[in-house]
Amino acid sequence: MKTLITGVAGFLGSALAAKLLEEGHQVIGLDDLSTGKEDVIPPGVQFELGDMLDRPKLWTLLQEVECVYHLAARVAVQESILYPREYNSTNVGGTVSVMEAMRDVGVNRVVFTSSGAVYGAQVAQPLHEEMVPAPDSPYAVSKLSAEYYVKTIGRLWGIETVTLRIFNAYGPGQHLPADHPPVIPYFLRQAVKGGSLVVHNSGSQTRDFVYLDDVISALARAGIASDVDGKTINIGSGREHSILDLVKSVIEVTGVDTEAIFNHKASGGVNRMRADITRASLLLDYQPRFSLIEGLEHTLDLDPRFQKE
Ligand code: NAD
Repeated sequence: MKTLITGVAGFLGSALAAKLLEEGHQVIGLDDLSTGKEDVIPPGVQFELGDMLDRPKLWTLLQEVECVYHLAARVAVQESILYPREYNSTNVGGTVSVMEAMRDVGVNRVVFTSSGAVYGAQVAQPLHEEMVPAPDSPYAVSKLSAEYYVKTIGRLWGIETVTLRIFNAYGPGQHLPADHPPVIPYFLRQAVKGGSLVVHNSGSQTRDFVYLDDVISALARAGIASDVDGKTINIGSGREHSILDLVKSVIEVTGVDTEAIFNHKASGGVNRMRADITRASLLLDYQPRFSLIEGLEHTLDLDPRFQKE
């Protein structure tokens, strides 16, 4: 199959490209390198530097493509609170641009990476796809809004759409920005470098951490599965771990008895997040293979940034 990945130089996009190439697909990759890095794109990808708002470029790239994996986005929740206009422009406008170009060229299917963040704070757990979303950041609003555009444009023009709501993905190669880094690579780096782990609020808040390989298997499968048109599907581990559990697991896998420091003034975000993955199991034959400890061990082994000094 000839495929196009937007956001191919990112954490998930580069790993997905490697998986699709391994499965024998042809991969064209688009990225503007705004946060992505060209050197993570696997050899074998036909890489094009560019912005997904550039529709003439998309028209050229999309010729004979059967499936688009649309991953390009701005992904920093805290940044989205400061710059909602930019998040709207890239995550919503960029998605509409990709959908319009797909319509113009006549592409068959799109797999869109939405986020578990669209659920926001919910009393009932686990989170299932029929719940009414309650997004609580411009990032989450932009993903939900993009979901509606993908489905609506898809339905109007006969493009098959599959929306994956990915929970807290982690693994080797995840970005580690200085400001508001994702908790897993931040804790691992702090532990191996001999620093302490700053926990926001009490640390009792839970998240559904899902290892990279499990997410990538689900994405690859969504490109070829039948009976998924118009579906929204959670991709998580199906388990929840508190941040305090995570501290213990990081100490266990690194073997470093580091100290947790609590910042009680910082918001810990929503109290609980756990994905109901029944639909993923039925439609994508999805079974997460990695426990948190196994995923952390793989991340430590495979990511050179976490080698002990
Ligand atoms: P990432 O930041 O590593 O990758 C996004 C890529 O998109 C980057 O390489 C960036 O340069 C590119 N990009 C941004 N704007 C662009 C534009 N206008 N044109 C072309 N390229 C552009 O993020 P990621 O973690 O790999 O996430 C990929 C997707 O999965 C995103 O849509 C994100 O919302 C979604 N997602 C990720 C997670 C997670 O835990 N990583 C969870 C839920 C959803």
